[in-house]
Amino acid sequence: MNKYLLTPGPVPVSGGTRLAEARSLIGHRGEEFSELFSRIETKLSRLLKTDGKTVIFPASGTGALEALAANFIGPGVSVISVSCGVFGDRFREMAALTGADMINVDVEPGEEVKPRVAAAAAASNPDASVMLLTQNETSTGVFNRVDEIIAAIPMETRPLILVDGVSSVGAMPCFPREWGIDGLAAASQKGLLTPPGLAFVWLSERGWDAVSKRKCPSYYFDLTRQKKYLYKDAPENPYTPPVSLYYALDHALDEIADEGWFSLKERAARSLAAGIEALGFELLVRDERFRSPGVTAFFHPSGETGAILKSLKSMGVEPAGGQGKFRGNLIRMSHYHDVRWPEISLALGSLYAALGGARRGAGDFMRRAYGVWEAK
Ligand SMILES: *Cc1c(COP(=O)(O)O)cnc(C)c1O
Repeated sequence: MNKYLLTPGPVPVSGGTRLAEARSLIGHRGEEFSELFSRIETKLSRLLKTDGKTVIFPASGTGALEALAANFIGPGVSVISVSCGVFGDRFREMAALTGADMINVDVEPGEEVKPRVAAAAAASNPDASVMLLTQNETSTGVFNRVDEIIAAIPMETRPLILVDGVSSVGAMPCFPREWGIDGLAAASQKGLLTPPGLAFVWLSERGWDAVSKRKCPSYYFDLTRQKKYLYKDAPENPYTPPVSLYYALDHALDEIADEGWFSLKERAARSLAAGIEALGFELLVRDERFRSPGVTAFFHPSGETGAILKSLKSMGVEPAGGQGKFRGNLIRMSHYHDVRWPEISLALGSLYAALGGARRGAGDFMRRAYGVWEAK
């Protein structure tokens, strides 16, 4: 059966990207690869509005986070970890594993991180040199306003800001240089609409300066070593890169380069949310300003969410379930890929069928969702 993948990573990859990935291999120590690499760097700089280059290496998003942890954090480093869900907790765990002194700030899963909460943590821990944030908490569908959070911390006392952008980069604005992020981690298989396997790390000047003063205990994840190869006249990767994924990424970056891409993501999220609510589900993120443009989390008040998800899967429609405290009680539907009205109606129609539709008095959902879609 043809599966309609709606998991928040991996996400459906376009036909064009799959074709690009299938091209014949080239060696990774040659002019052709350097050109491909440089082209990708230019596109990433445009997407992130940065000038410095982005380190790319084969790993999943966790590998990109590990690289940040290994290069910035170690025994005795004081780290403020702000978490509002499973992925914030994971970044925290990685930091703690290095032997850092952890200061943990927990926000109720399903809620966003308020700028004043992060600012208060920085103010009362002036010795902290690093703060960990998650831009898009995929486990709950919460979109944190990282720009506002950073702006709320005065520059003089601001720790190095490390951001998990694994499920945000590509699908929503993420402008690390403009916002004052010092280390950003991302991955290929979510907002970047590429198959899994590539990790990305971007550092600010302050960030590069900080890591150059530390000895990284990891060989493979040593960013300073990566930087030497990245900044060669003809850039390369210190170790064998998955060239096919670079082909795919080069193509996918064109698909999301359109100026209207971010607003299309938001529009799809709002329309889908309107239909989901009209079907009688409840959205986990109550305040719509903090709902992710990439993934929507919801549940049915009857308590039958697990059964509804199972029914959806039997139809070939595959969102993800809940994680952490929401295991078994949440549906997470992603819309990172090119989702427009046909895709929204497919998702809503399948939900209607899985729910037992009319029996629950959910009749008007399509008109409601289409109204929001059409209003733009
Ligand atoms: C998916 C995800 C990760 C983990 O990425 P992997 O590619 O599965 O290693 C980390 N953080 C966030 C916010 C994610 O969505």
